[in-house]
Amino acid sequence: MSQYDYDVLVIGAGPGGYVAAIRAAQLGLKVACAESRETLGGTCLNVGCIPSKAMLHASEFYEAAAGGSMAEMGIEVKPKLDLGKMHAQRLDAVGGLTKGIEFLFKKNKVDWKKGRASFVDAHTVKVGDETVTAKNVIIATGSSVTPLPGVEVDNDKQVVVDSTGALELKAVPKKMVVIGGGVIGLELGSVWRRLGAEVTVVEFLDALLPGMDGDVRKEAAKIFKKQGMTLKLSTKVTGCTVKGKKATLTLESAAGGGSETLEADCVLVSIGRRPNTDGLGLENIGLELNQRGQIETGHDFRTKVDGVWAIGDVIPGPMLAHKAEDEGIACAENIAGQTGIVNHDVIPGVVYTWPEISGVGLTEEDAKARGAVKVGKFPMMANSRAKTNHEPDGFVKVIADAETDRVLGVWCIASVAGTMIAQAAQAMEFGATSEDIAYTCHAHPTHSEAIKEAAMGVTGKPIHM
Ligand code: FAD
Ligand code: NAD
Repeated sequence: MSQYDYDVLVIGAGPGGYVAAIRAAQLGLKVACAESRETLGGTCLNVGCIPSKAMLHASEFYEAAAGGSMAEMGIEVKPKLDLGKMHAQRLDAVGGLTKGIEFLFKKNKVDWKKGRASFVDAHTVKVGDETVTAKNVIIATGSSVTPLPGVEVDNDKQVVVDSTGALELKAVPKKMVVIGGGVIGLELGSVWRRLGAEVTVVEFLDALLPGMDGDVRKEAAKIFKKQGMTLKLSTKVTGCTVKGKKATLTLESAAGGGSETLEADCVLVSIGRRPNTDGLGLENIGLELNQRGQIETGHDFRTKVDGVWAIGDVIPGPMLAHKAEDEGIACAENIAGQTGIVNHDVIPGVVYTWPEISGVGLTEEDAKARGAVKVGKFPMMANSRAKTNHEPDGFVKVIADAETDRVLGVWCIASVAGTMIAQAAQAMEFGATSEDIAYTCHAHPTHSEAIKEAAMGVTGKPIHM
């Protein structure tokens, strides 16, 4: 008999934790997963990826009908917004998927321990009133919203909200101010703009979407402005007062000075997320955090404490569901004695706006800082499918090493950029050159042909330009 209740206890049932738990069980280990939320699936399924995509998808249809792009194709409709029903289909998607994880836990014999988990020692964890022992503990506690001092979020009042509140607004705000021009601000700002809100994005930096390729950031700003968003770049919010259903924000230039005020019916605070470690009892196992409040691990996801592992948003790297999932699989495999690896150089990122924005690998700026590069770029305007579908905005950019031609990064702005980026990630995993992509037969007519043409552009030979 083992001296422990379980081989593996996972803390947190988000995409990192639930995937790790299932993989560990598939590998024959006895597994439990502690989750304090009422439902499984973490931020992603409950208040993140899935509900935001449900609102993005529905609002995209609304705008296509209301904003004229359907009329362009000979379909005249006057849409009527039933926001209650739109929210209901969002909740339905969330309910179905979170129940699906519950089913997968049962199928794989993963025990769900309901409650907040806290370390007693490295192999003993209190979950609510229960004490659970495990040979290995995986911390997969995720992240939550970074607060902005002076701008207090109150999701119940629906005036100053975070992403969770912004998914649930009961009425379309007339004027919405989004603080932070990152992924959440642009996705949820897009939802409410499409449904009729006047949206202003206040961003501290001089461009949207930090971390993305410079050309992509510039083009994104042009596209969002064309869609009617007001962008206040290089601007910071210095305060917020709420009276009844109205908020007044004070703004200053990021460099200081030039104070102005901005009124809004709804303010979305989306300035980033921070790791969840409060109350975990890390002091009881002697595990310290880095300067950004994250848990450091080795490539195998072991922490400095023997038997304790960590994955997902709580460790360094992009805060993305698929990154957390892949780490969950690799970590479980390592615990089972296999060799689990995640290639952190090839993690795609997608912004699910219209058009979508995606990228994988290095930005042109980062690639150039490392050595000589060749770049091929192809506009979606010249892609037959995008043009036929009335989707002219965007481009594909392929960045390759000037000497070896190995692909270092691919960036796309296109209606289906999120789907297109998968082939680039796979090509890079296989160490592809731009020539490999250029000489791969791509189906016609597809948006993906733009990736082939951009790859052909690396050596100066696109056909349709
Ligand atoms: P989480 O999903 O945060 O899960 C951690 C879980 O641990 C939570 O359920 C929490 O309740 C639980 N927990 C924490 N502490 C304890 C404790 N002490 N005891 C028990 N349980 C605990 N990423 C994408 O890749 N694509 C997207 O489209 C996307 N959209 C997003 C939209 C929004 C609005 C938001 C907010 C995020 C989005 N993300 C997206 C990011 C994605 O949700 C996260 O990167 C992902 O959920 C991280 O997974 P995780 O398993 O590390 O943590
Ligand atoms: P983010 O880091 O993407 O963007 C935050 C933005 O706020 C940045 O542009 C930053 O410069 C700006 N900012 C910071 N402080 C500010 C201030 N005081 N005033 C004005 N601007 C300020 O963070 P997010 O949009 O909150 O998203 C959080 C995380 O969730 C991200 O890491 C992202 O990866 C993840 N997420 C992913 C998706 C997706 O994959 N589609 C969708 C939503 C969220």
